[in-house]
Amino acid sequence: MDQACSSLACYDANHGHPIGGGKYWIDGFRLLAGDIRARCAGRRQIALAGEGCGEGWLPSLDLMLSLQVSKERYSNPKDGWQPIPFFQTVYHPYCILFGNYSSLTMPPYDDLWPAEFAPAEPLKLLDRKYSQQFLLEQARAFVWGQQPTVANFLPAQLRERPEETEFVMQLARLRSRALQYLQKGVFLRPPELEAPEATLPMSRLSIYAGQQGALTSFEGRYPMVLSGAWRAPDGNVAVALANIANEPITVPLVLPQKEYGMPRRGGIWRLGPSGHQPIGSFKGERVSVASSSHFGWSGRFGVHPLGCPRPQGTIRHPSHSSHSSHSSHNENCWSVAVPLAAREACLVEFGR
Ligand SMILES: [Zn+2]
Repeated sequence: MDQACSSLACYDANHGHPIGGGKYWIDGFRLLAGDIRARCAGRRQIALAGEGCGEGWLPSLDLMLSLQVSKERYSNPKDGWQPIPFFQTVYHPYCILFGNYSSLTMPPYDDLWPAEFAPAEPLKLLDRKYSQQFLLEQARAFVWGQQPTVANFLPAQLRERPEETEFVMQLARLRSRALQYLQKGVFLRPPELEAPEATLPMSRLSIYAGQQGALTSFEGRYPMVLSGAWRAPDGNVAVALANIANEPITVPLVLPQKEYGMPRRGGIWRLGPSGHQPIGSFKGERVSVASSSHFGWSGRFGVHPLGCPRPQGTIRHPSHSSHSSHSSHNENCWSVAVPLAAREACLVEFGR
């Protein structure tokens, strides 16, 4: 529903609502959505999606568009902002977020738009040097619990851009097997990763930015492994990891056991493209992990004698205020090294 999740002040005295700001816009939207649902009731099941996300629309919409994973394509690279999963953190259990400008092609053109905005070659493939921008957008959406979306998909891309399209398919399959975390779960603070960064060329050409000129680009520093953490309704916890590098990376994963509300004991599994494998167990503060060779991995998956890193922008829990930050900082943290192949994603699950 285009324009849904927008609310503006109206000063037209002929509309019968209070002049200026007010709740009349959202009241009107609820009437509209309620009317659509009433007319479809008993005939078919419908889902209503908005053009953005916002608290006021949560009761009316099933899905909310969240294009910010593609922020680099449409906004000024020097505006000082970076996208964070703020809405997901608070409202993830109450709506499904989806959407991006993550495309392997030039933006689409509609015949009804002014001819001067028509691209010379509609849906021409973008330069391969922007591949990792596409992977970054898809990885953000995956670890933030969004429903996968591809913009301007054409079947030929399966053949012409296999690395990128296989990555999207891998994330979609993984998500479908981990809905208890990525769709029905509660967002937890993502673990701090000591993952390498790289300088990536980013294309700047959404359906709004740069249409009148040629594609422009800029460079930025981005992490090669993205992470998110989720607690399922049954209490199990999973960390979603996505490596967007074109080479294998082993990530030291440090988990704050207490903050995540993990059970006292349980098993550890790795859910990846090659299946669901048990890799170890934990009891209290002790973690034991089987050797990676047992599972045929090229990397290692082991326990590291590291303490908990202090989270950036530490939020001190009131009940911890009498403790020294050092002691609360080092207790109940596990550290395991997780091997990831090039362009591989996985979930590391902790639970019963
Ligand atoms: Zn009005």
